[in-house]
Amino acid sequence: MPSPIPYSGNSLDRVSHLRRDGAWLEARLNDPESRFLPFWRQQVLVKSEPALAWARSDLCARVNPDAGPILLGMGGGVAHFAIDVSALETPLETLGLAGAAEFKEPHAVVSALPASDAAIVAQGRGMLIWHGRHRFCGVCGEPTSVKEAGYMRECDACDAEHFPRTDPVVIMLTHHRDRCLLGRQAMFPKGMWSTLAGFVEPGESLEEAVRREVAEESGIEVGDVRYHASQPWPFPANLMIGCMAEARTTDITVDRDELEDARWFTRGELARAILEPAQSSDLFVPPPMAIGHHLIRDWVDGNER
Ligand SMILES: [Zn+2]
Repeated sequence: MPSPIPYSGNSLDRVSHLRRDGAWLEARLNDPESRFLPFWRQQVLVKSEPALAWARSDLCARVNPDAGPILLGMGGGVAHFAIDVSALETPLETLGLAGAAEFKEPHAVVSALPASDAAIVAQGRGMLIWHGRHRFCGVCGEPTSVKEAGYMRECDACDAEHFPRTDPVVIMLTHHRDRCLLGRQAMFPKGMWSTLAGFVEPGESLEEAVRREVAEESGIEVGDVRYHASQPWPFPANLMIGCMAEARTTDITVDRDELEDARWFTRGELARAILEPAQSSDLFVPPPMAIGHHLIRDWVDGNER
């Protein structure tokens, strides 16, 4: 089996059927074997290997988490939780971990972490950001409380139930015969080109979102759309839905508000670009951490179906 796209491949069993079992949850929270992954201001705690720096429950008793702990799942018969220690000004000192571990941005460590650990970071980070942004009810404005091991917040006043968000984004490799369409945003490093992408809007199918985004950004009309692969992207809560899109037209009209440029590339050009390390060449594509890389590579390899 090929290795999973980064941020997917979580080996924990999410045990969603146990989240409402208060006695079971209480026992796991107090179990000295349970493991707790601290996040501080959206950064994750890692050791030098690098590896996730799991803490024990006694360590967590010394902090006052803003949300949770959030149950991540069971692994090796042991419960795993994420905790938010953002309220601490000097978390490493307070946790007694100065010199032993560091808080890092996920992108700084994801390529070096085992696939399952990177996916656990995506789960924990996404959940904790959601909690941080939903402390008040979107219906009536009153405070909400954590329920179901972190997978729901309930309004204290009107009982409205709020669930963690995942925002769908289509990201598509648009191809026409032996060429494919890539674009560049002004913020990209010089020389980098990637697949087009955009948020799915309410009342829109994935296929419709692909056709609309490609037409808006490049003026290209898309016919057949096929789902290819997906990637959790916890920045803060996206699910990247990778598609292969067949172009019906080839004349490009670039939307300069969205893109700096868009153009057609041959398989040969991109076969070379994939091998180039980032920022060392006139033409390169996003690194393997991003699903855009996998869409381009699969198309170059002839796996667009
Ligand atoms: Zn409410």
